[in-house]
Amino acid sequence: MIGIENIIFLIVAAVGIGLFVWQIRKIRKNVLMGRDVELTDNPSERINKTLLVAFGQQKMFKRMLPAVLHLFVYVGFIVINIEVLEILIDGIFGTHRVLGFVGPLYSGLMAINEILAALVIVSCAIFLWRRNVTKVPRLWKGPELRAWPKLDANIILITEIVLMLALFVFNIADLKRVQLAGEEVVGAYPISRFFVDIFGNDPEQLYTIAKVGWWFHILGILAFMNYLPSSKHFHIIMAFPNVYYSKLLPKGKFTTNPAITHEIKAMLDPSYQPPAPEVDAEGNPVIQRFGAKDVEDLTWKQLMDSYTCTECGRCTAVCPANVTGKLLSPRKIVMDTRDRMEEKGEHPAIFAPNHYKELGEERVETTDEKTLLRGYITPEELWACTTCNACVEACPVNIDQLSTIMDLRRFLVLEESAAPSSLNAMFTNIENNGAPWAFSPADRFNWAEDLYVPSKN
Ligand code: SF4
Ligand code: SF4
Repeated sequence: MIGIENIIFLIVAAVGIGLFVWQIRKIRKNVLMGRDVELTDNPSERINKTLLVAFGQQKMFKRMLPAVLHLFVYVGFIVINIEVLEILIDGIFGTHRVLGFVGPLYSGLMAINEILAALVIVSCAIFLWRRNVTKVPRLWKGPELRAWPKLDANIILITEIVLMLALFVFNIADLKRVQLAGEEVVGAYPISRFFVDIFGNDPEQLYTIAKVGWWFHILGILAFMNYLPSSKHFHIIMAFPNVYYSKLLPKGKFTTNPAITHEIKAMLDPSYQPPAPEVDAEGNPVIQRFGAKDVEDLTWKQLMDSYTCTECGRCTAVCPANVTGKLLSPRKIVMDTRDRMEEKGEHPAIFAPNHYKELGEERVETTDEKTLLRGYITPEELWACTTCNACVEACPVNIDQLSTIMDLRRFLVLEESAAPSSLNAMFTNIENNGAPWAFSPADRFNWAEDLYVPSKN
């Protein structure tokens, strides 16, 4: 029967879900600030990739310990959603364990749920240990890991532990109350049954404890859901679309700039007719920017990447520039893009990670310029990149850090002619000699003059 408690629950759930949707709309608006790009080709390959990399956690298994721990948390998250569905129905309609009618299947689900909840607690405790006690370098060091990202990671882990404990409080108290009342136990509770005596034998007290555990668990879930958009943990939602829309081209293949392609085609073939210039909604020609200076010059996918970043630092740990002490950290490029996007667009309702920026130790000297380039990411970082693709390969959620680096570099070269002098010399050579070296094309085979080449005759 629906009572006052159910009405309160309905209001709380509606506010929680509504606030989450409102934040998602802000994020969508931010991502759509980016340039358009067509990424819907080859759906079957995209689905395969999503199943392997996002659902199957394929890339995580390059490091066994964090992979197994992460798997517990990930599967726990998926299975617990079934229980959340039951909580929502029970909360609205005043029922008790409404999905219990599926019998053995329900028992199996509840049992798996409890085992996974326990594994989530153990995994999160180990993750906390690795972050704060053993201080795994990739989770601890780097100018991008300022106060907020460190705090955020700890908040998430502690919240997950507390949510699971609340679930156990509910299950233990409810199980004992049902046993005392002689009612049929709905579901199987392989962990809670070992602790049934810890809350005493008073049915009323057990009822209250179960209610507190239940409310704490669901309110915690609603609060956690609304915290996600401010957190790196948002990847639990974004990883799936981000992997689906990931690059299908070979990793080393760069995209070309259509405006330059048309110009070259016209140079090679005077009869070539470039397409009419793009116009905006009012019919004004769109000024084409070569490369990217700020977030709106990047594509929506590159902006989506930055909302998907788990801040795991796997990319930075394998980056040859970073490990040899250069300023570049691919994780910083991705995190800076997100910070700048939220500075320019909107930030989620709960927290503005930008506010925590100044609390970190800065190693990268940026300027006051209010653009992604120079205001957040310096040319020195960009030119340190060897374009080796190791970061792209390492990323567990298929983020293409290199494409952002290349687009920012393109802007430096094509719009500002601000490449390092060694590269400018190479560009001049390519223009004049058709090769990066300072030799005339006529001298190209000089190296072969002294070679002994046996004649067939
Ligand atoms: S592509 Fe650039 S950023 Fe990525 S790992 Fe290689 S050097 Fe580092
Ligand atoms: S870009 Fe990928 S590998 Fe790098 S920190 Fe983010 S999620 Fe991890």
